[in-house]
Amino acid sequence: MPRDLNTLNDLDSLNARFENDPTGAILHAAEGPLGPTALVSSFGADSAVLLHMVAQIDRGLPIIFIDTLLLFPETITYHEDLVAHFGFTDVRRTRPDRVELFLNDPEVALHGSDPDACCDLRKARPLERALAPFESWISGRKRFQSGLRAGLKVFEPDPLTGMLKVNPLAGSTPEDLRTYMDRHDLPRHPLVAKGYPSIGCTPCTSAVQPGEEARAGRWRGQAKTECGIHIANGQLLRRAS
Ligand code: SF4
Repeated sequence: MPRDLNTLNDLDSLNARFENDPTGAILHAAEGPLGPTALVSSFGADSAVLLHMVAQIDRGLPIIFIDTLLLFPETITYHEDLVAHFGFTDVRRTRPDRVELFLNDPEVALHGSDPDACCDLRKARPLERALAPFESWISGRKRFQSGLRAGLKVFEPDPLTGMLKVNPLAGSTPEDLRTYMDRHDLPRHPLVAKGYPSIGCTPCTSAVQPGEEARAGRWRGQAKTECGIHIANGQLLRRAS
């Protein structure tokens, strides 16, 4: 947690101040009072909105992209296109450790037998390594995405890393995001038009039907709903490694 932000009162006051001001929350984080910060982006369905907001403020802000090595080829292409489109200068594409992969998932089958362990290996550990130089990080989560995210705050402590997490789009609705993308003519992830409103790794993502939650296609048929790099309602959603 940043040195100057140690009490829940501090967080309450930040949340009250920036609840309806996504760019203000980003600006506050980027200006430094929260310590060095980075944006973590999946370059998924809605990612262009937050990336565009950040690009208007600071194209040099570090952008962390976790490449699990099991992403859709469309996501890799979209990542490269958006980075060029916005002109970011400090993009950190982080991947799982090769030795850890060899030891723990040599057949690339862990996602089927133990998806929590797979997310830990391919997402949580690379993210922790990438976040080591920072004291806070910016995420693109929204309350509407699932029931577990319904209580999401704009500023929240992250017990996993001891850092502060900033969720500028917490209160945004699907309509807000569509309107923003239309107004700024932002490039769309090509899989959205094919029925994927939430996009993760190829083995664990399917298209959704009309009326389903945006994240219904993630780990379909399993109890798992989060990859473990986030928490909700004060509960750590990552198993101990
Ligand atoms: S989403 Fe699936 S394939 Fe990707 S890291 Fe998690 S379990 Fe593994």
